[in-house]
Amino acid sequence: MFMCYDHDHHYDEQAAIAVEQDILQRNNLLAERNRGYFEAKRILALNLMSSPGSGKTSLLEETIRRLKDRLDIYVIEGDQQTSNDANRIAALSVPAFQVNTGMGCHLEAGMVNHAVRHLEPSTGALLFIENVGNLVCPAMFDLGEAKKVVIVSTTEGDDKPLKYPNIFSEADVCVINKTDLLPYLGGFDMRTLRDNILKVNPRTHVFELSAAKGDGMDAWCGWLLKNLPVSAGGNA
Ligand code: MG
Ligand code: ZN
Repeated sequence: MFMCYDHDHHYDEQAAIAVEQDILQRNNLLAERNRGYFEAKRILALNLMSSPGSGKTSLLEETIRRLKDRLDIYVIEGDQQTSNDANRIAALSVPAFQVNTGMGCHLEAGMVNHAVRHLEPSTGALLFIENVGNLVCPAMFDLGEAKKVVIVSTTEGDDKPLKYPNIFSEADVCVINKTDLLPYLGGFDMRTLRDNILKVNPRTHVFELSAAKGDGMDAWCGWLLKNLPVSAGGNA
């Protein structure tokens, strides 16, 4: 089965499927409420998904440094434990809300709903939802976001899209991070990674960048600005 339960060898498969469908259905209803709220307030909400250590929070930090003077940015941080990531974002004077999922390995629409009530994002804002580091079940939980972004780093090798096709097939955007490490990665081939991403999802946009060094950040930030429902920077 596709979800993240501890499997008991005696479990009733039909009952398990029914429970999963019910969970997903309830999630989808809440996700639609979130989506309606974001649309009404012309908020661009993005669901950022990746395995742990791909550099999601570093990408957010660098993106925030570049864009925070042009528009209001808010961040929901999903992690099983700690507020480390929310603290890193808050250090940039951007409102951040930490969701700790405990044993849970993905964010659900209800958690985003709860976080949004705390953050109260302003009209026209950019809202980043950093999912729990996991390339499996976050793909199945609609959060009400406008776009799904998958981040994969060069250090993870070039075959992640083939191993985890579901999440890559859902991605509106794929960010390949840590391009600055390319000279040190013997077995990695950028061309192969790009080909594998596009094999799984031909319609996704691919950005290659280094959040640490800044290369490629302009194109990514340009894409964000272009996708805002309300244009930032004064030229309406
Ligand atoms: Mg994180
Ligand atoms: Zn999960």
